[in-house]
Amino acid sequence: MHEMSLAENVVSIVDAAAKAEGSTRVIAIWLEIGALSCVAPDALRFCFDAIARGTVAEGARIEIITVPGEGTCGSCAKSAIMTALYDLCPHCGQPGLQPNRGTEMRVKEIEIDSRPFQNCRNGP
Ligand SMILES: [Zn+2]
Repeated sequence: MHEMSLAENVVSIVDAAAKAEGSTRVIAIWLEIGALSCVAPDALRFCFDAIARGTVAEGARIEIITVPGEGTCGSCAKSAIMTALYDLCPHCGQPGLQPNRGTEMRVKEIEIDSRPFQNCRNGP
């Protein structure tokens, strides 16, 4: 299952980051998910909860940021916003848009409970 391996990946990234900071708890994780990545956010959350159990990421809040897709047309070479893979080019109507952006998923930011090494990250 696609989301299961992504969730495993996220948990291992978060786990390594928390350990590097000497923390045992992760508060929140911001994930960027491309509109063309075929990742179902609900399925990802479900898999994450299952995999994170017993790790530093257990109970962490998942914030999902959707990144719009964008591609270049193979026929007219113009760039276009894409909402799905296999979209037709809005300029010339031909298929063959090559996505440049929006197919990936990445961990954008992690909020780690860094106590007792409290810093002012949440300050004004
Ligand atoms: Zn075109």
